[in-house]
Amino acid sequence: MCSRSMKNKCICAVITEETSEAARNAMDRASSEADLIELRLDYLRDFDFANSENLRALIRDKSLPVIITCRAVSEGGKQHVEDDVRLRLLVEGARQLADYCDIEAAHYAQAAKLLPDLSRLIVSYHNFVETPADIDAIYDRITQYAAAIHKIAVRANSVSDSLSIFRLLDRAQTEGRKLIALSMQEPGLITRVLGPAAGSFLTYASIGQGRESAPGQLTCEQLRNIYHVHRISRETTITGIIGQPVAHSASPVMHNRAFAAAGLDYVYLPIEVNDVEEFFTRFVKTSSREIEWRMRGFSVTIPHKIAVTRFLDEIDATAASVGAVNTVVISDDKLIGYNTDVEGAMKPLERLCALEGVSCGVIGAGGAARAVAHGLIARNARVSLFVRDMMKASAMASAFSIPVFPIESLGASDIQIVINTTPVGMKGYSEDSSPVSREAFRNLQIAYDLVYNPIETRFLKEAREEGCQIISGIEMLIAQAALQFELWTGRRPPVDLMRAAAFEKLAAEAM
Ligand code: NAP
Repeated sequence: MCSRSMKNKCICAVITEETSEAARNAMDRASSEADLIELRLDYLRDFDFANSENLRALIRDKSLPVIITCRAVSEGGKQHVEDDVRLRLLVEGARQLADYCDIEAAHYAQAAKLLPDLSRLIVSYHNFVETPADIDAIYDRITQYAAAIHKIAVRANSVSDSLSIFRLLDRAQTEGRKLIALSMQEPGLITRVLGPAAGSFLTYASIGQGRESAPGQLTCEQLRNIYHVHRISRETTITGIIGQPVAHSASPVMHNRAFAAAGLDYVYLPIEVNDVEEFFTRFVKTSSREIEWRMRGFSVTIPHKIAVTRFLDEIDATAASVGAVNTVVISDDKLIGYNTDVEGAMKPLERLCALEGVSCGVIGAGGAARAVAHGLIARNARVSLFVRDMMKASAMASAFSIPVFPIESLGASDIQIVINTTPVGMKGYSEDSSPVSREAFRNLQIAYDLVYNPIETRFLKEAREEGCQIISGIEMLIAQAALQFELWTGRRPPVDLMRAAAFEKLAAEAM
């Protein structure tokens, strides 16, 4: 992302309703959240494409600028409309009623015969399969067609594909052209959020989840109220989360709300990363990166918490002993790794009791188990592991000098606090399961589940019913995020706001 200042009128709500009445209502609703409307006529099932009076009735009372689009099926259109009918509707419609029409470059020659108003013409190119290697040649070709705005929307198969989009946006700015450029799909999400600040004429958004016209499209509400896209400029400090998957992470809502409340010009992005080495080379390291952005650092999640350690200049002592990094801070071009999972896991527990001398059972022996065991041992708790595979867990047990037992033996142990660090019970994984039987809780005092979605897992519900105090993983999620906020900004985190954001996000997902 290079050049240009704040962009004010950039959220374009795409209307994908199937009836004219629903489309009119959707345009009304969008007027409070969007700056422009794209009306996808090809979605309408009750529309006479040959009669421009239909279009007049649809957009007569428009309160925002409207782009009319009637896509050819070959470019993602929802229904077949004869080219001569749809192109005439678009050209005539933009001349008399709408503010712009969007016509595919492949149909430019045919549309040109209808003498479109060039000041209201968008010429577009789509590729739903890939970001073509010859994208610069495609830009060269379509910009030869006279139009007000050119558009390139291509599929990103990896986050690196978004670099081509930022490069094109730079180029268009240098050449004084108006360009809409974006990468579709999750790995391209950063182009949808940062695109306007990088020079894209607009960024498309849906009017609600399930109403998207293209994969990876965010909602108007998300762009406006979570990412504050209108405030992003090239001066904005970039943070985010790298992992795979990251689309459903609660971290963007927590961090972006915290940044906004603190009055900080920061944004936090979900960045789907498959190849960590490539990400560090092309996006992070100042010596080799291909994007000019003020990157301050990022969270690291599954499956990269161990892999990132190879690319850092320094690793703090806690992260080094855990052997995993969940937070990277970039300071004076130096990449420093931290692990806020350790303190984040301990904070909710310490709110309930002192841990010294307390007998704690950790279920699981993966990355989160290592963070929890490290925190407990540092507080002089007595730690035991409970696992399904004793052989696999033996390396961790000897690294931490702690005993390991089969999960089934938990009920017969002297454990006072049990902590589930397996994903069992997680939404979409094994939601109605628990790693232990209900009887195991009978002699326990506290049950803590690192799983945070759902907020109360079956493990926690059964523990509560058996008389245990319970702690949801959402408390760790909030605590570790608050520590990250502090590392990146040097400010005290607005923890209550972050908590509210996390609960709202999970409540919305549960609906
Ligand atoms: P991980 O490295 O893959 O470790 C998972 C552990 O769970 C492994 O020891 C695995 O055993 C065990 N396991 C998996 N399925 C099991 C089953 N059916 N029965 C018994 N054990 C099972 O994952 P992680 O990074 O530690 O994350 C674990 C969980 O913690 C995830 O749900 C994650 O979302 C959560 N977490 C939450 C927070 C938070 O802020 N609340 C932070 C970090 C992690 P095997 O080795 O035998 O496969």
